[in-house]
Amino acid sequence: MTEKLTVSVLGTGIMGAAMARNLARAGHAVRAWNRSRAKSEPLSAEGVFVAGSPAEAVEGADTVLTMLYDGPAALEVMRRAAPALSPGTAWAQSTTAGIEALTGLATFARERGLLFYDAPVLGTRAPAEAGQLLVLAAGPAEGRPRVTPVFDAVGARTLWTGEDGAEGSATRLKLVANSWVLAATNAMGETLALAQALGVDPQSFFDAIGGGPLDMGYLRAKSALVLDGRLTPAQFAVSTAAKDARLIVEAGTAHGIRLDVAAAGAERLERAAAQGHGDEDMAAAYYASFDEAG
Ligand code: NAP
Repeated sequence: MTEKLTVSVLGTGIMGAAMARNLARAGHAVRAWNRSRAKSEPLSAEGVFVAGSPAEAVEGADTVLTMLYDGPAALEVMRRAAPALSPGTAWAQSTTAGIEALTGLATFARERGLLFYDAPVLGTRAPAEAGQLLVLAAGPAEGRPRVTPVFDAVGARTLWTGEDGAEGSATRLKLVANSWVLAATNAMGETLALAQALGVDPQSFFDAIGGGPLDMGYLRAKSALVLDGRLTPAQFAVSTAAKDARLIVEAGTAHGIRLDVAAAGAERLERAAAQGHGDEDMAAAYYASFDEAG
């Protein structure tokens, strides 16, 4: 039998809300907090305790799960939680924070005696809701009994990448995977935009590549969001994807390589956000090919 834990979920946006729900369904005592309370309130129907502050949320926690927008947000929220955090608590840090911010998060954990798990996830809204994420995790063996049941509740599989969360091995793998996802998303958007500009029916493009090695389920799924106008609710929002694209570009720069496609992709996502598509699914980067907001 899996041990039942008290798990605090800080950040209940697209991903965090789904993760909190699945933790509650797995029988864990879940204490959730979100900056905008309206996004955490519905979780009370699932038996989740909705806290009024990060400190209240982490009271009595075996494990704290952070799923915030970026590294600075995760650090700020953990600082607010600090007065109620006990040494020895496990911290599963699932926000896509990037390599640079990870150092500050790991330092915070070390200074407060927390067991730090670098634990970004692969998979978007639908797999999060289904508890089918892939968790990439690095952290000490000592606290694994308190994070493994958490990862099992939110994910289909956990891929352990190391024993020291501060080394960022899970975050580095996450950035590599996101580099592929974002390149594919941006290529899809540009290809559809080119088809439209040239008067090519997108279906004839799909027919041309159908069944061959260049056909991809991902291409079909993301194209359908654009072509059918189903860009909300977002699986993964344009503005969050733009943040991740910048983390990838920065990682490349810091390690002495050029990532031209990633840099152009970041610009496309930022332009789409500036056009008013920031809260739509990242497939809306398609609109960055056109001068006016779509
Ligand atoms: P989201 O719905 O926008 O959620 C972001 C969360 O961060 C919200 O709870 C938001 O609070 C909170 N937040 C932002 N800035 C904050 C601040 N300064 N202080 C306190 N809270 C703050 O995004 P998401 O898609 O769930 O993504 C969450 C994380 O998971 C991101 O790091 C993202 O890169 C990563 N991720 C996303 C996906 C995906 O497909 N969606 C997949 C894998 C990983 P409010 O509600 O008050 O704005």
